[in-house]
Amino acid sequence: MQNTILHSGDSLPLTCSRSGTCCHGNRVRLNPWELMRLAQAKELSSEEFRKKHTCEAGTVLLFNGLPNHTGKSSCGLYEVGKGCSVHPARPLACRLFPLGREIQNGTAHYMHEGSDFPCLKECPEVLNLPKLTVEDYLLGQETQLFENAQDGYLELMQNLADISFELLLDSGLSESGDTETLTSWRKLGSMDVTQLSKEIPTEWFDLLMIPELEQHAEPMSFVQEHTEILNGKIQELSESLSTLNSIREAAKWMMALGLLLAHAIGADAKGLSEHWIEIAKSHGAQG
Ligand code: SF4
Ligand code: SF4
Repeated sequence: MQNTILHSGDSLPLTCSRSGTCCHGNRVRLNPWELMRLAQAKELSSEEFRKKHTCEAGTVLLFNGLPNHTGKSSCGLYEVGKGCSVHPARPLACRLFPLGREIQNGTAHYMHEGSDFPCLKECPEVLNLPKLTVEDYLLGQETQLFENAQDGYLELMQNLADISFELLLDSGLSESGDTETLTSWRKLGSMDVTQLSKEIPTEWFDLLMIPELEQHAEPMSFVQEHTEILNGKIQELSESLSTLNSIREAAKWMMALGLLLAHAIGADAKGLSEHWIEIAKSHGAQG
């Protein structure tokens, strides 16, 4: 379906009728900072929250609550008669809905799916409520901190892919005629996120999705500390790599971590893996 690209001054029926429609049968992705914030709001550890309220390797909220009149199950964090039980900590996807956000050439663009405004289908009453500009809507939803977290994790995703590149291109692995690494990147790119998580040792998977960090309310400190902890662990791993086989395995894990994060932030993991394979090939890698 074609997206409608929006401009900050576009005026749309963005005042929510609060029917809870989009808290049913929807799909909400989570990055690690958002998962931590939600866990904190529910007074659970990140691990407990992941088990109880998420699926797809902790990257998607579980919609296992009571169904509404259309038979769609609610988000597990939705309370009948009250609404969202974690409203101040709700993730970016919920704050933006019915809008989406995409970064192109370093600039954020907002859009909605299709040519008709999405809320009109199930909440036509929004036409009787005040219209808002995209800019005012985003301010009202306090998206900025959550956008910062998303952008921080986009950067971490790219860093993980870069480390995978270095392992392949600067270690002698590519020069050895290796073709298995790019084959493994291709396979990882076409896996769903649950399969992908099984390709990563649990210790690394948990370090990516539920790091044991201070519960920073400010996302950039959290993402920075998260990145530093991962970098420390990657440094230790790099120092222990003594054979081409171990380098190949490490390059695969780093790519899998990057792609897992791509799923968590709603990026096109398959498209990214193909793009990265082409770049590696242009630097002489084979496969
Ligand atoms: S579909 Fe739109 S109007 Fe209806 S509850 Fe969701 S955001 Fe509000
Ligand atoms: S987190 Fe809150 S706003 Fe988001 S889908 Fe769940 S109940 Fe709705």
